Amino acid sequence: MDLPDYAIEAKALVKTYAATKTTPEMQALKGVDLSIPRGSIFGLLGPNGAGKSTFINILAGLCRKTSGVVRIWGRDIDERPRDARAAIGVVPQEIAADPFFTPRESLEVQAGMYGVPRAERRTDELLAALGLSDKANAYVRQLSGGMKRRLMVAKAMVHNPPVLILDEPTAGVDVELRRQLWSYVVELNRKGVTIVLTTHYLEEAQELCDQIAIVNRGEVVACEPKASLLQRIDTRNVVVTPAEPIAAPPNLAGFETRARPEGAFAVTYRTGQSSVEQVLAAVRAAGLHIADVATEDPSLEDVFLSLTYGAENEAPA
Ligand code: ADP
Repeated sequence: MDLPDYAIEAKALVKTYAATKTTPEMQALKGVDLSIPRGSIFGLLGPNGAGKSTFINILAGLCRKTSGVVRIWGRDIDERPRDARAAIGVVPQEIAADPFFTPRESLEVQAGMYGVPRAERRTDELLAALGLSDKANAYVRQLSGGMKRRLMVAKAMVHNPPVLILDEPTAGVDVELRRQLWSYVVELNRKGVTIVLTTHYLEEAQELCDQIAIVNRGEVVACEPKASLLQRIDTRNVVVTPAEPIAAPPNLAGFETRARPEGAFAVTYRTGQSSVEQVLAAVRAAGLHIADVATEDPSLEDVFLSLTYGAENEAPA
């Protein structure tokens, strides 16, 4: 059988949430085109409200798209919904484990739901891979938060899907567990599983992903291999506190400036193109006296700003 070039493809994908009594109509995805290469570890990044969960819920069949085309493992979700869904395992954001099942039972039930024949079940293998063998027969309510989360990953893998989707997998997870989870994810990827993960931690994506898409306000603002994206985000901030209060950040030729609390402002520069030295020279040339200076690494927000600068996006206050 021919394998698809793309594990997931979305074309002109739109999702509009209808207005309610208390909220206006909301276009959460505004015509998203996204192609996730087979075999990649793909990071879907964006701030809260960007549309990441909406996208994943559409893939998982939990949310109906308004228009556009989605293919999972080459299977159109409108034409072949069951086949499409069989190709993905989704680890949801929220821990939703049944307290009355043991991990072993939980995996068996899940496998049953997916119609995996007993002879093909991999319950013990999954328990071992996720470090849950010695808790196989404990009640789920006796597991730690980290164990529950690993159980969620195991549940998503019972039908051996070629694509695993992790929605904010490490939110609220401690560092050690994060490492464990990542090493399992990397191992799965080595075995050929395409991994899609959403996160708003840039470091996480930076460490793990080979392909990255950045979504902002329902639009894809970048989608490329990590290496080329990182070259685009070689920005740093210099935070300047002027000696005398100023009404607004100065306009500095060649630099973006943004207001910070207490009369300070941040100047963003590109490490390959200029230096802190040049930023400070520009500040002085604008007639400002400097009381204090600090430098900071780029945040995801800086990445967005550098990628969406000049668009209709306003800078956050
Ligand atoms: P993210 O996962 O990137 O934080 P979401 O997909 O959850 O973003 O949300 C995208 C936008 O859609 C947000 O403005 C959010 O308020 C809105 N939204 C999400 N779910 C619903 C819903 N069920 N009904 C109405 N609006 C929603």
